[in-house]
Amino acid sequence: MTQTVPPAAAGPGHIREIVERILSAGTLPPIVQAGHPALRQRAADVDGQLSADQLDRLIGVMRQVMHEAPGVGLAAPQLGIPLRLAVLEDQFDIDPAAAALRSRSPLDFMAILNPRYTPVGSGRASFYEGCLSLNGLQAVVARPDAVLLEYLTPDGAAERREFSGWQARIVQHETDHLDGILYIDRAQAPVLEQQRGIRCALGGGRHREGAGGAGVRRRARRHIDRLRLAGPGLAQAGREGAGNPAA
Ligand code: ZN
Repeated sequence: MTQTVPPAAAGPGHIREIVERILSAGTLPPIVQAGHPALRQRAADVDGQLSADQLDRLIGVMRQVMHEAPGVGLAAPQLGIPLRLAVLEDQFDIDPAAAALRSRSPLDFMAILNPRYTPVGSGRASFYEGCLSLNGLQAVVARPDAVLLEYLTPDGAAERREFSGWQARIVQHETDHLDGILYIDRAQAPVLEQQRGIRCALGGGRHREGAGGAGVRRRARRHIDRLRLAGPGLAQAGREGAGNPAA
């Protein structure tokens, strides 16, 4: 299921104003959460709204926010900026078995402008996915396991690059953000509250054990039981996927 999203409404002045406010704040901006309008609109193409220096500094801020979260991707709308720009990076030191299960290999930092992706082949993979704009939630999302990404670099060069495995998932998740699509729109199973008190797969960000933690764990177990009933592929995603990095 995908959302019907309105066309971009943000003019160049509006975008420049938001970016200038963020760049002059002196602190890292917060990641906006579901409910913010920037997350539900088609973002505007990067098209000269920002100077090269502003774009460069904004990419630097986005990278810092992504590291701080921590996450493996961040799209400009997640900072309230309706602009087709995202940063990606996956350099976390993770368990080799977990990495193999997800076909997850390190991804060097990259900033992508005006990206669009198309599936390569017909393979699909189902895993739990999280989003920095939907704190504490995860859901199983089936996605093409390989995509071709067409995008511009910050210098304006047109690139085409294929991604597979976990990298392909990050690319799709971030590009979807620029179309006003959240992963829950593509989820094939009920949304699961992330278990509290476990260290997430990123190796950072210990979650606080809040009131109702036991209830969350009970619901999580019931949810994974349902996934087992749904088939071996989803059951595997349920057992192994919770705690995946958000983006
Ligand atoms: Zn996200």
